[in-house]
Amino acid sequence: MAGCGALGSASATLLVRAGVGYVRIIDRDFVETSNLQRQTLYDEDDVASGMPKAAIAAQKLQRANTSVRVEPRVADLTASSAEALLRDVDVIVDAIDNFEARFLVNDVAVKHSIPWVYGAVIATYGLTMTIRPGETACLRCLLPEAPAPGSVDTCATAGILGPVVECIAALQVTEALKLLLGRTDELCGGLAQFDVWDRELSVVDVPRQSDCPTCVQARYDYLRAESTAETVSLCGREAIQISVPRTQPLVLTELAARIRGFAPVQESPFMVRFCVDGREINVFADGRAIIKGTTDEALARKLYAEYVGT
Ligand SMILES: [Zn+2]
Repeated sequence: MAGCGALGSASATLLVRAGVGYVRIIDRDFVETSNLQRQTLYDEDDVASGMPKAAIAAQKLQRANTSVRVEPRVADLTASSAEALLRDVDVIVDAIDNFEARFLVNDVAVKHSIPWVYGAVIATYGLTMTIRPGETACLRCLLPEAPAPGSVDTCATAGILGPVVECIAALQVTEALKLLLGRTDELCGGLAQFDVWDRELSVVDVPRQSDCPTCVQARYDYLRAESTAETVSLCGREAIQISVPRTQPLVLTELAARIRGFAPVQESPFMVRFCVDGREINVFADGRAIIKGTTDEALARKLYAEYVGT
């Protein structure tokens, strides 16, 4: 499961309850109240707990089916992390909220010949497409480049109607189960679009492009990118994520002890959360931080340097 927000909650639940053996849940974020309308694995206690989504999801789903091994990975999919996170699985189910990471998934999937199921929801509709490297069109056959930031609707600008999430998850997981069962001749074979408000389902053929940079020319541009942006603002949130390459691992208990000298700290094995100057700073074990209450990247970097250090 690449991402465990709305679509990830629904799809991961179906996969674990189906008994697929092993599910790795990758997510970079923690739970917020505004998520609860559509992210059905989480509740108000999880918002208060300060635990990351991947850890909560794995814990809850493990209880639903103890015969499946559910492994959480609190991590961001970046050019440097994506291959290690994704390359050793049978199927990748996409529940990512941004195109940059989705193109990374496509690069890893094509490079390592892993089938994957693209999935996305926005407003009252959603999309899914099953991609089998070498057999079907890949994501770059469909979209040569990731759309420019600001050019497409996001969950912040258009919202997501809760029920559409369940519809797209149902289509997506059915495709994933067919892949796992080897029933590839029964796959959807195109880009399926469903609008739950208008009850309209359409499937359009997506041809392979003879000059596709990824699945024909084997050029993995997104994986080769030097590094994804060190500082990114998060979709639909007044928040900035900062990733700083670290030479030394971050020890969360030491960070928490330092901060406790001047501010209350919420601490778990995955994350440390504290507030300074009205901004909430959330630091993960991999050194990433999400700083809430600002959209100013320079300010976020300054707060990171001051309180977390490099
Ligand atoms: Zn392609």
